[in-house]
Amino acid sequence: MEGRIIKAIAGFYYVHNGEEAYECRARGIFRNKGIKPLVGDIVEIEVLSDEDKKGNLIEIKERKSFLIRPAVANPDQALIVFAGAKPAPNLNLLDKFLTMMEIKRIPVAIAISKSDLVDEAKLTELREIYSPHYKVIEISVKEELGLDEVKDYLGGKFTVLAGPSGVGKSTLTNYLAPEANMETGEISRKIERGKQTTRHAELFYIGEGGYICDTPGFGSLELFDIDKRELKDYFPDFEDYVKDCKFNGCIHIGERDCGVKTALSEGKISESRYKNYKLIYEELSNKRGY
Ligand code: GDP
Ligand code: ZN
Repeated sequence: MEGRIIKAIAGFYYVHNGEEAYECRARGIFRNKGIKPLVGDIVEIEVLSDEDKKGNLIEIKERKSFLIRPAVANPDQALIVFAGAKPAPNLNLLDKFLTMMEIKRIPVAIAISKSDLVDEAKLTELREIYSPHYKVIEISVKEELGLDEVKDYLGGKFTVLAGPSGVGKSTLTNYLAPEANMETGEISRKIERGKQTTRHAELFYIGEGGYICDTPGFGSLELFDIDKRELKDYFPDFEDYVKDCKFNGCIHIGERDCGVKTALSEGKISESRYKNYKLIYEELSNKRGY
């Protein structure tokens, strides 16, 4: 039987086949010794008991992609959740999340959450910055707005929910997968708890072949494993204008005759995106972590 690992605890792997989960171990006939099965892996299992829902892992299918923190395999796409307000969106951090997904070649959309608390001017501003290159979905779980659009995006895929804490990821997870029963609420309370226990990534089935994973500890990002000169390649905003740059490999900061800077001065590229590009570039130059 084939399925996806949705949870891993103390040597047990819970493999979901689209209907129910089997508790499995990786020993005996397990073929990929030396590889640690990850949440998100597609695996072949031998069913030991249909009644008790127990089995053995036989094989891990080839991983298409993976994230390191949290360790999850094969995300099809990501939904980056940022609140329009409470907490106010930190666009520098949002741009880092986007860059990280671009680097990992994981398709990404943005959910602007708590839209019930955000005025129209702010929503328009965010839409203008991001919607030329990313799908932007405005949602309010509280007032049930935008949720059908979210479900359309999630479809039958495995989607990683990313974003800082307090933006409503757990609330959204509970809405999409009620059995998830995620604790929601005060940031400070969750941080307290986070200190005491190591949270593990867990996938929740949302029906019709789809899974989501709320990613604990994702607020502090992995250090970008790239050369700073590559950073420009992960800003789709620049793509159309690079052909007008005089210098090959132009990084669009100090160079003369730069198509990107011209586009910026003509208002064709978002100032916020460009500003954050430069800030991230500087951080990479200083080799600081996030
Ligand atoms: P997480 O840290 O990203 O998982 O955020 P939570 O799901 O715990 O939500 C943080 C707080 O925001 C909680 O008090 C939620 O009740 C609240 N919240 C979540 N979604 C909404 C929403 O759509 N509108 C409003 N007004 N508050 C929300
Ligand atoms: Zn340039």
